[in-house]
Amino acid sequence: MTTARIRDFIRTRRPDGPCLVVDLDVVRDNFQTFRKALPDSSIYYAVKANPAPEILALLAALGSNFDCASVAEIEMALKAGADASRISYGNTIKKERDIARAFALGVGLYAVDSHEEVEKVARAAPGARVFCRVLTDGEGAEWPLSRKFGCVPAMAVDVLVYAHQLGLISHGVSFHVGSQMTKLDAWDSALADARRVFDKLLQQGITLKMVNMGGGFPTRYLKDIPTAEAYGQAISSALRRHFGNQLPETIIEPGRGMVGNAGVIKAEVVLTSRKCDNDNVRWVYLDIGKFGGLAETMDEAIRYSIVTDRDGEATEPCVLAGPTCDSADVLYEKTPYAMPVSLTIGDEVLIEGTGAYTTTYSAVAFNGFEPLKSYVI
Ligand SMILES: *Cc1c(COP(=O)(O)O)cnc(C)c1O
Repeated sequence: MTTARIRDFIRTRRPDGPCLVVDLDVVRDNFQTFRKALPDSSIYYAVKANPAPEILALLAALGSNFDCASVAEIEMALKAGADASRISYGNTIKKERDIARAFALGVGLYAVDSHEEVEKVARAAPGARVFCRVLTDGEGAEWPLSRKFGCVPAMAVDVLVYAHQLGLISHGVSFHVGSQMTKLDAWDSALADARRVFDKLLQQGITLKMVNMGGGFPTRYLKDIPTAEAYGQAISSALRRHFGNQLPETIIEPGRGMVGNAGVIKAEVVLTSRKCDNDNVRWVYLDIGKFGGLAETMDEAIRYSIVTDRDGEATEPCVLAGPTCDSADVLYEKTPYAMPVSLTIGDEVLIEGTGAYTTTYSAVAFNGFEPLKSYVI
């Protein structure tokens, strides 16, 4: 969403080169919307979506908690004003010495999905609370998180019993339905799994307290998405269905849904050309591509909304590509992107919904193209 503030900033500051502009007012609105949609859940912002210090400071001031995946992210959240008690170390793949560093910084909540990781946490963060991540199928997610994280529910039971035996506090179960989840009922079967894990643990005398329902809340790109209220209702009714009147504490970890629509990338057309005289698709090369922040166009998974000053004029199918000398640096080719016929070299384009998963993916200056600049206003 290109807000008036973003438009004014780009018009008056005229930043050279591609850059992301994030409107903090939108982040604030998103936080309040999540809070209203799921009033009984604690919000843990997934820092990896966009760790800009201004965003973290705003969310810390609003009372957000933070889901961090590394010691560096934990330090960023602390620096932004979050207390260590509001931080979860949510990565299931951690070095033991990083767990020890997090523990020394006061972090007391850790994700695990294996016996091996439980042993590390028990040694490096004795007595800490742990939650076990269970696999989900990711169906319906435009950016699924695959089988990399989580274990099957039956194993989660064993992992949490083992954690208890090693002196940790077995606190709960987590899952992530997959990012950019557009199916409202995706949380239902994961919550059913969580309930089964709770029951199995109770049979062994261990009372779990918490379900971490992860992220997955979408940003609007080209297609409409259900409202936050609709997600809230679907999740609340799934919670009641599976936990009845013994509702656990719940956590949500929005990343994309918190900042995606707050950011717009300003970019520029570097070249438009064809591969032969009667080529019916035009190639449009931008000054930003896969290595400059648009990594989520991989497999054409995320299709951004691209706004030009010529919108409303006749369009034609275009292949969109980035500026680097790597043939993988093509954004949309399998499904060409309709762009105005009159679009020309030097035109400015605004790539909307780019507040999440852009700057952080663009940390290395591949091919001499600078990492994506970011302005938070
Ligand atoms: C990435 C991540 C999130 C955020 O996911 P979104 O789909 O961006 O909301 C939440 N929790 C964990 C553990 C993650 O790794």
